[in-house]
Amino acid sequence: MNEHTGQSILVLGSTGSVGINTLDVIQQHPETFKVLALAANQNNKLLYEQCRSHKPRYAHLACPKAATQLQQQLKTVNSPTQVLTGEDKLISLVADKSVDTVVSAIVGAAGLPPTLAAAQTGKRILLANKESLVIAGELLTKATQNNNAVLLPIDSEHNAIFQCLPSSHQRTLAPKELSKTGHVKKVFLTASGGPFWKLSSQELDKVTPQQALAHPVWSMGPKISIDSATMMNKGLELIEACWLFGLQPDDIQVIIHPQGVVHSMVEYIDGAIIAQMAPSDLRVMISHGLSWPQRTRSGVTPLDPLSLTHLQFYPPDSHKFPSLRLARQAMITGGTAPAILNAANEEAVCAFLKQRIGFTQIVEVVEKCLTSLATNTVEDLSDILEADAQARSAAQQTIKHCEKRYPCMSC
Ligand code: NDP
Repeated sequence: MNEHTGQSILVLGSTGSVGINTLDVIQQHPETFKVLALAANQNNKLLYEQCRSHKPRYAHLACPKAATQLQQQLKTVNSPTQVLTGEDKLISLVADKSVDTVVSAIVGAAGLPPTLAAAQTGKRILLANKESLVIAGELLTKATQNNNAVLLPIDSEHNAIFQCLPSSHQRTLAPKELSKTGHVKKVFLTASGGPFWKLSSQELDKVTPQQALAHPVWSMGPKISIDSATMMNKGLELIEACWLFGLQPDDIQVIIHPQGVVHSMVEYIDGAIIAQMAPSDLRVMISHGLSWPQRTRSGVTPLDPLSLTHLQFYPPDSHKFPSLRLARQAMITGGTAPAILNAANEEAVCAFLKQRIGFTQIVEVVEKCLTSLATNTVEDLSDILEADAQARSAAQQTIKHCEKRYPCMSC
């Protein structure tokens, strides 16, 4: 039996970059935080190691074969961890009364159903999985409000904005027309610019997956690294910020800040701008989310202000990086448009990583889907899942067409 009296935590996506950093912070505070359950897709090897270190009551793998292997591995060491598989089991796990906090760090739209279940069952949610808020912003924020859940952003920029906001706006995050009630004039969403922001359009055409995966500032999973290189990550984050803080796209100005020291800024009506600075280490944001409204150690080496000789800010080039425009437009259009944008992007990123299409074609695929598919209103989760499936199918058609145009891409 679990007799621990601290926060009981379920980490969704524990084997990924955010998940691993979360477990690092938790391990530093055994009196305060306890891992109740871990969930991943198919990486039974790493999940086994994590089960040995953190002794969760439950471990969930989406892949049934990997779950069977994990079960066998854990049996040989008499581990008490119960292994589960299947989406219904994951939803029940999220809803389990003994779970206080859900760290939502699955990559992509697959993170939506468990994140929504966490909101519907009133959990404290540490949100890294931006895609769920992008595709289901209204559903997720309403479920949060209606069930007294708490949505805390651990995406670095949104965590920074949260920290720069007046405390009256931090109690429970949900749409609240910040600009009218919080004396906030504008939000600056910073972007490192990824590895290619200085390249010409011609040079961008030749970028390889290996080059795109090498982010200059952050160490992250493959999907977000590619999103960062195309700047679609910033487009998704713009939509995420709109839902989290009740902003309109025009309230948000994206600026390139290559040093990645300032994680975002909030401008007030009196001319003051409050910025949050921290090392580019996810553990700062994760420990903030875990301990909010208090603070706790994260294990990072703090910034030395004397070393900050250059803090530069530039406007993004929307001609070279059209993803920002597409995301802004999808948010304005509303309904299923952001779900179409996200699903097409997930398919295109996957095709690029497999060298089926070129780098600049990622955004072409997204734009084609957005212009060719009808946008519908969203009543419930099924509307989003339907739009997601349609967009994936349309994206696959476009990807096939791109392959025909560039037959040597995968050679
Ligand atoms: P990774 O690719 O490193 O990890 C993804 C995690 O999700 C893995 O644990 C993976 O399991 C799991 N997963 C994937 N598909 C499924 C599925 N169908 N069911 C259950 N689990 C699944 O991603 P990151 O950690 O980089 O990113 C995670 C999320 O956090 C993304 O939404 C990203 O945008 C966001 N984020 C990431 C940041 C970063 O610095 N990395 C910063 C801010 C936000 P397995 O290993 O078994 O495949």
